[in-house]
Amino acid sequence: MTKIDVVVREVGMRDGLQSIKFIMPTDKKLEWARRETEAGVTEIEVASFVPPKLLPQMADAAEVVRGALEIPGLTVSALVPNLKGAERAVEQGAHKLNCVMSVSEKHNQANVRRSVQESIDEFGRIVGFVRGLPSNRRPQMCAGLATSFGCTIEGDVPEAHVLTVVEKVAALGVDEMAIADTVGYGNPAQVRRIFSGARKIAGKLPIAAHFHDTRGLGLANVVAALDAGVTAFDASLGGFGGCPYAPGASGNVDMEDLVFMLESMGLKTGVDLARLLEVRKFIESVLPTDTFAGAVAVAGLPKNYRSAASRAAA
Ligand code: ZN
Repeated sequence: MTKIDVVVREVGMRDGLQSIKFIMPTDKKLEWARRETEAGVTEIEVASFVPPKLLPQMADAAEVVRGALEIPGLTVSALVPNLKGAERAVEQGAHKLNCVMSVSEKHNQANVRRSVQESIDEFGRIVGFVRGLPSNRRPQMCAGLATSFGCTIEGDVPEAHVLTVVEKVAALGVDEMAIADTVGYGNPAQVRRIFSGARKIAGKLPIAAHFHDTRGLGLANVVAALDAGVTAFDASLGGFGGCPYAPGASGNVDMEDLVFMLESMGLKTGVDLARLLEVRKFIESVLPTDTFAGAVAVAGLPKNYRSAASRAAA
């Protein structure tokens, strides 16, 4: 098996679907997950364990997690906003919990009605809960730090504050951290500073990046994060996604464009881009929406496109 240089993780099934009204049938979600795994994506955030009243699009979270666990080779991740959500996700056997809080005080209040410190304390309780599980039932715990590059309510989120949260969360003993530009405010210089700063604080802890392409800087921010040593990125097929509590926060980084860029740069993702474009066609056929983004799907692959693995072999 080829060594992977950069891991690309699909989050559209959660981040994208929660931001549109249409409720995707469970079997279509699972077909999406199966097909994208067959194209080489190894990790998918398949659902969010928030109360179904808040997000009816995620009401089938338990079923989706159980179904996704049947897909060979897939790491099944689920977003959990609190300990209750973590318990529900563990009950279904999710491989990874993505526990998310906002670094911006007001965004966190609006989102989960907690202060930043209260959310950090809740993360501590989730770590305690996960550590108390027998090893065969213990998921990986990723801490997601939303609005780390700016906030639709507060505007600036001071970088020193972001790094303080990184330090406190790393000290809890999480397995991974993801620093997120939830609302597409970040720029490459800021990305380089924050990820370099976080890397110094967090030591060996893996740190992933979650960017939205709201203002067209998604891939530029990916390159800046690569420069800072990040090797795991969230993206969504067709580039849709957002946050119901961050108005205007449309569009995760487009998965096909991300894979195209990384592979063209000689970085192996393990993803077969031609197959990935087929999966995009599948979700386009299922979703009644015109919110798809992405340049490669429109322009097609250039004649001289070669995957990083085939470049290396040549
Ligand atoms: Zn997001």
